[in-house]
Amino acid sequence: MPIYEYQCTQCGQKFEVRQTIGEGGSKLSCPKCHASNPERLFSSFFSPASITTESSGTSCPTCNSGICGL
Ligand SMILES: [Zn+2]
Repeated sequence: MPIYEYQCTQCGQKFEVRQTIGEGGSKLSCPKCHASNPERLFSSFFSPASITTESSGTSCPTCNSGICGL
């Protein structure tokens, strides 16, 4: 069962929720201030850090690998 991470749009509280696949997050609420409609963040399976590293790395923006010599 995947674990999703949510962040409250009201107070910024982050919390994790176990959900079955296909289950929506419309009924979720912040455990701190009970605001509804929290924002879903990247799960731990897809690290945002690795994505940032790839997009802002030292590789060439033209060929995306540095083999073009630019
Ligand atoms: Zn909150």
